[in-house]
Amino acid sequence: MTRKLYYDAIEQRTFDARLLRQETSGGRTRAVLDQTLFYPGGGGQPCDLGTLNGVPVTEVYEEEGEIVHVLDGSLEGEQVRGEIDWPRRFELMQQHLGQHILSAVFVRDFGLNTVGLRLERDAMWIDLDGYVREEAAAQAEAAANEVLYEDLPVRILFPDREEISRRSKRPIPQTDQAIRIVEIGELDFTPCCGLQNQTTGQVGLIKIQRLDTHKSGSRIHFLCGRPALRWVCALCGDAARLLRELNCAETELAERVLRQQKELRELKDQRQALLGRLARARAAELLQQAPRVGEVALVRLALPETTQEEMKLLFACLTEQKGVAAVLGGRTGDGAFLLFGCNKAEKRVDVRPAFREAIAGIGGRGGGGACCAQGFGPDAERLEEILTAAVAQLEQQLQA
Ligand SMILES: [Zn+2]
Repeated sequence: MTRKLYYDAIEQRTFDARLLRQETSGGRTRAVLDQTLFYPGGGGQPCDLGTLNGVPVTEVYEEEGEIVHVLDGSLEGEQVRGEIDWPRRFELMQQHLGQHILSAVFVRDFGLNTVGLRLERDAMWIDLDGYVREEAAAQAEAAANEVLYEDLPVRILFPDREEISRRSKRPIPQTDQAIRIVEIGELDFTPCCGLQNQTTGQVGLIKIQRLDTHKSGSRIHFLCGRPALRWVCALCGDAARLLRELNCAETELAERVLRQQKELRELKDQRQALLGRLARARAAELLQQAPRVGEVALVRLALPETTQEEMKLLFACLTEQKGVAAVLGGRTGDGAFLLFGCNKAEKRVDVRPAFREAIAGIGGRGGGGACCAQGFGPDAERLEEILTAAVAQLEQQLQA
């Protein structure tokens, strides 16, 4: 059995111990000491990290009463000086105690139990056995922070089962060993094997980030302590930047951003409508001027500068009409886009052979069916010439 210093010396960061044994396999060393401050993980809380004689500890776990330290290298000598990564441990304790407090407030004020949780240094959630609205979550967050201001003592107890069943609202663990209870003032009395700060004030801050629905309840994403402060500071930094950019007051920020979003949506709709009108007008003009083979109008157009979106709109306007075949090419960005096709009812035209030649001519790739083929290529140099050849091929098809 390893002596578990982490339960007795909650504020201690370094310790001395004796190496009982170590073994190395697969480039990793597993070391067992006579005593340790390294928490092996449990109760939802991740294990401690740190160093033993300066060698990084990458994982810690418990196996048959012994604490196993997984190391990046092996230890020399029997005497070991250990140091846990204190800022990390402290934040994990803040997260863990904050979780107990928030869970206890949801039980006390809303009758909701925590039925699942995840606890990491920079991410945490609890699952509640019922739905919570935004306002209720805000109330719970405020109440939980009040518990921090009260700076309540956090005590570790090993009471008998009778007292546990009387005071705890949670299921009692099935074990014949003494059950470890974390008591937070009058607020909470919960079986837990994890590590927490000694007073609620040390948690500093509890901040709910967002709510999700999960199964038949709510998942509350939140942070406590320094992780919460980091998150709030990052968010405030972004908000401050927006305030400067938009030149508005704090109270107007959300309203302003939402208004701009609405305006943007309206502008996009207007732009789409204008592009549609433009395409229809252009299509009508092109059809008037297009040469005809029998009843089929053959439209050929090379656009010096355009976008794929514009070309597709124009193509749709042209080919939605019966008796139309179109060969469109346009310079877009760093190459050319080709769009060949005809009205779906037009059975005499198959644009694929002409398209294959044309797309090869611009060094591009693409494909499609008999009524519509498209592709992009980098070489727009001979675009005019290529389109003329394509139209000639379609003309031959129609005359055959
Ligand atoms: Zn716990």
